[in-house]
Amino acid sequence: MDCWICGKPADSGEHMLKASDLRATFGNVSQNRQLYLHSDLARNIRKRTIKDDGFKSKARLCGHCNSTLTQPYDRAWEQLSAALRSRAPLRVGQLLKLNKVFKSPSARMLDVHLYFVKHFGCRIAEFGLSIDIVGFSKALLGRTAHPEVFLAIGPSLHPKIGKKIAGWSEIEARVLPDGRCAYAQYFYHLPTLTVLIMYALPGQRRKGLAQAWHPDKQSRLLRIAKLS
Ligand SMILES: [Zn+2]
Repeated sequence: MDCWICGKPADSGEHMLKASDLRATFGNVSQNRQLYLHSDLARNIRKRTIKDDGFKSKARLCGHCNSTLTQPYDRAWEQLSAALRSRAPLRVGQLLKLNKVFKSPSARMLDVHLYFVKHFGCRIAEFGLSIDIVGFSKALLGRTAHPEVFLAIGPSLHPKIGKKIAGWSEIEARVLPDGRCAYAQYFYHLPTLTVLIMYALPGQRRKGLAQAWHPDKQSRLLRIAKLS
């Protein structure tokens, strides 16, 4: 199978939960301290190591796209995720000053956006959703925003659950009569925060979109959204 981003032969899979997010959530995972993977295909599957293949997407990427190309995107999310964790518990409406997190907030927030463009693209490539993957690969290769991908970041949706949870939800999608997907969304869960990742064709009205963040906004502030 070829890399869905650049089309060259592929030999790796994307970690669908960042190792840094996993470590921050669960500490060191060992046989005695196991963690649980929640995803569409697998629930409560015991995992012994963070590098376990269960955390990888089956969508294939080439080594270059999975490391060199997308490393800045991974790093930017790592940084934002850490900043949000350090401010936990997050409150709806709270404003995060992005210049306190990044030296060049708009460039780094574009990279955060691209981290989730990659994440979403892997899921589209893996499950064959009727969303054009070309827009995703173009954005990643050109380091430009995907005009139809939006993010909203809110407090954890599972704050009361004793067990620490990290994972992602199934994709909910609205498909038009002509077969095209008009809107799709899923959640990326960490114990302290939840990211709502959305794909929307122009003209879609959704609760999540009203609170969404997109690189075109060029805002210096990130408003913590109400996702429940
Ligand atoms: Zn590639």
